[in-house]
Amino acid sequence: MAKASAQPPKGTRDYLPAAVRQRYHAISIIRQVYEAHGFEPLETPALERLEALSGKYGEEGDQLMFKVLLRGQPLVQGIERAAAHLAEPGALVEGRSGTTAPKAASMLADLGLRYDLTVPLARAYAAHQAELPGVFKRYQIQPVWRADTPGKGRYREFYQCDLDVVGSTSTLVEAEVAGAAVECLTRLGFSEFSLRTNHRGLLKAVVERAGLQPNQEVDAITAIDKLDKVGLEGVDRELSERNVGEASRRALLDLVAGGATLERVGEFLRGHAAGERAVAELRQFMELSGHTAAGSRIVFDVSLARGLGYYTGTIFELSSPKFGGSLGGGGRYDGLIGLFLGREVPACGFALGFERLLLLMEEGGLFPADLGALDLVLGAVAEGDGGALLGASRELRAAGISVSMSPRAEKPGKLRKAAEDRGAPFAAWLEGGSFQLWRRADDTTVRGLDRAGLLAELGRAPAR
Ligand code: AMP
Repeated sequence: MAKASAQPPKGTRDYLPAAVRQRYHAISIIRQVYEAHGFEPLETPALERLEALSGKYGEEGDQLMFKVLLRGQPLVQGIERAAAHLAEPGALVEGRSGTTAPKAASMLADLGLRYDLTVPLARAYAAHQAELPGVFKRYQIQPVWRADTPGKGRYREFYQCDLDVVGSTSTLVEAEVAGAAVECLTRLGFSEFSLRTNHRGLLKAVVERAGLQPNQEVDAITAIDKLDKVGLEGVDRELSERNVGEASRRALLDLVAGGATLERVGEFLRGHAAGERAVAELRQFMELSGHTAAGSRIVFDVSLARGLGYYTGTIFELSSPKFGGSLGGGGRYDGLIGLFLGREVPACGFALGFERLLLLMEEGGLFPADLGALDLVLGAVAEGDGGALLGASRELRAAGISVSMSPRAEKPGKLRKAAEDRGAPFAAWLEGGSFQLWRRADDTTVRGLDRAGLLAELGRAPAR
């Protein structure tokens, strides 16, 4: 019989018990911080209608979205439409990864896997706004899927931990969201990290001031966003490929290269009304953040653009010298919910990049040594005592002691080893009609206990 591959799909992982415990540990801390800030939980489906996702994440996002093939008769019709489309001029696009047919893909699919948690929030808010408070503070911890090229801290299935405030334009929201994100990192044990901050309105104004045409704005912002990865020369090359003139390129790169301060950018934008407004908003955000955990972590970075298409105001990104990519990011997106609701509703939020945080926690030894929850491994030396073990386990569990019962007769040494492997402080076994209880802490064994005696001994000892 041909054997199917046992590997999970590229960029996805099986999580074995120790890894799941680490994930639960981190999620429980993040959830505590979010709840302490008054945010409420929301969950949305893994699948979204493709039309809800498309066009929200910029060009790259559309390409990296996992699409779900149509089924049955609609699939046959879709194939016919797509085949006819391929013959039309412009249907095939030459890109870095070869020939693609972006429009054909959407003729073959009607659903997509969620790409982030922000667009699903916007959709769900629009669907349920009558049941939700005017200012809705929600958190969401769920997996998302992107057809990224897998690498260190880069997966195709990964968790995000989002918190967002819908329904307020107040800069207090930015400050609270950034404060909560920073507090999560601190509570998880991180010490070296910063919160890079910029403003989409400021970037737009800078690009305008530098003399670019309105239709070059998105290209320019996309190019600047890549500064971290491709350096100044790379950004320059990309801008010139996109037909940005030399004088404009120089003005832009001058500002970006020197790591311009907010003061310098403010000077550059003097007299540009929208630009001045953006600078003032950023200043206010920074001042308010002085009252939160984020205050000491904020660094202004005029080159921060954040690729996603929907941001409209202040943007932020968590960076650590220990990781090349971002550990989380967010910002204000006042136009997104309107796309689903038909009227604008302001919003601002943050997504923690959970997998990257876990990676750094593992490397930095930030997980507690023993994350196991088991108190006791219980077994019997001889076959035939199963009923007695089941009865004893039930009584112990009712008293709040977690018990893992061995399904076959085992020597005491095996049971002690199993307790060690599971991080359980106790092992006990039935031998000659009575229980023997071994305590890992001091490697001692109490012998000749009946069921009540076993319970009393375990009740006396601190569980761990
Ligand atoms: P974004 O929705 O693109 O702003 O991403 C938010 C956060 O998710 C990022 O800051 C990363 O930490 C994390 N992230 C993005 N893409 C991936 C990926 N492919 N694998 C793991 N984490 C990711």
